[in-house]
Amino acid sequence: MNKLGFGFLRLPLKEGGGTNDYDWASISEMVDAYLALGGTVIDTCYTYLDGCSEEAVRRCVTARHPRDRFALVEKLPGYYCKSYADCQRYFEEELTRCGTDRFDVFMLHWLNPENYARAEQTDQFRFLREKKAEGTARRIGFSYHGSPELLDTILTRHPEVDTVLLQLNYLDWEAPGIESGRCYETALRHGKSIFAMEPVKGGTLAVLPEEARQLLCAAHPDWSPAAWALRFVQSLSGVETCLSGMNSLAQVKENLQPFEPLTEAEHALLFRAAAVIRGATKVPCTGCAYCVPHCPQHIPVPEWFRLFNEVSRYPEEGWKILPVYAEKSAAGGKASACIGCGACARHCPQGIDIPAVMKEAASVLER
Ligand code: SF4
Ligand code: SF4
Repeated sequence: MNKLGFGFLRLPLKEGGGTNDYDWASISEMVDAYLALGGTVIDTCYTYLDGCSEEAVRRCVTARHPRDRFALVEKLPGYYCKSYADCQRYFEEELTRCGTDRFDVFMLHWLNPENYARAEQTDQFRFLREKKAEGTARRIGFSYHGSPELLDTILTRHPEVDTVLLQLNYLDWEAPGIESGRCYETALRHGKSIFAMEPVKGGTLAVLPEEARQLLCAAHPDWSPAAWALRFVQSLSGVETCLSGMNSLAQVKENLQPFEPLTEAEHALLFRAAAVIRGATKVPCTGCAYCVPHCPQHIPVPEWFRLFNEVSRYPEEGWKILPVYAEKSAAGGKASACIGCGACARHCPQGIDIPAVMKEAASVLER
C-alpha cells in the first residue's frame, strides 16, 4: 500500500538562487517520478510559497501531464475573504494560477475558531456547495487546526462536506493543542474521508532523539524514522491520502516505497518512542492534577503546562497552539491570572515551582 500525496509546500530552490527562485526542472523530475511510482494526488494552496506553489502546479504538473492522470487538491484562503464575492474572485485566480478548469478536492484552508467564524459570516460553505454543483470542485472539505469539539460542531452543521484535512502523526496523537487522535476519531464518527497533513511533523519525526531512534531501529534497522512516521499515518483506517511536502527526488523515491500496514506491536512501539521524544520537556508536569483543586483562580495548571511544553518544543507551531490556548482560556483561568499564592505547589509530587513556571508560561502563551 501507499497513500502518499505530494504536498507542494517545501519545494526545492535553485542552488544559490533567491527566495522564490524555484528549481522547476528538479520539481518536474520529482513530479514525473511521483506519478511513475503510482502517486496520484498533488496538493497546493493559494498562500503556499507566496503563490509559487500554484505556479509549480501549472509549470510542472498541469502543463506537462494529462489532467486525468492526477487529482488536484486546492484550498480557498477564506481568511482573506471579506464577502461572498471574494470567494469567487480567489477561486478564479486559483484556477488560472494552477492552469486547470477544476479541482478534484476543494477545501477551505485552515479552519480554526476565528477562521471558522469568518467562513460562516461570509457563507463559504455555500460557496463550496455551489462549486461542487457546477462541477468545478469534485469534492469539498476543509483543512483544520482546532479542538475536536469545534470539529464536531462544524461537521454536525455541515454534513455536506466530503473530506477533512487533519494534522496526524504519532507524536501529536495525544498532544494538547492538536489532539490528532481525537480529531481523527471525530472525523471517522462523521463518516468523512480523511486527508492527513504533517505526518512527519515538519521534519521533526525524521530526526529523533538518539534513544527514540534506537528503539525504532532495533525493530526495523532498514526503516528510516520518516518511513516509520509515514507508515503510521497511512496505516490508519479512514485515511485516504497522506500529504507530505517532499523536496528532493530521493525523498520521493523513498517515500513511495510500498509497505504493509503497521502491526499493533509496531504502533505500540511508536507510542513508546513518542514518550521518549516528549521526555526532554520544559516542565516535567505529569498531568496528575493534584494541584488543580487548590487554585483560587481556577487555573487548569496541567493543561496550560502541556501547551507551554508544546510551544517550547516546537516554537514554529506557535501559530496553531496559541489560538487553541486563546480558545480554551477565553472563559477564564488564564495563566496570567495566577496571583503567585503557591497553594498549588505544596501539592505537586514533581516539586515544580508552579507560580514561577506559570509566569513564564503566561509570557509565552499570551504573547
Ligand atoms: S500560585 Fe497561581 S496557579 Fe498556583 S494556586 Fe496560586 S494562583 Fe493558582
Ligand atoms: S501537581 Fe504538579 S505534576 Fe501534577 S498536574 Fe500539577 S503541576 Fe503537574
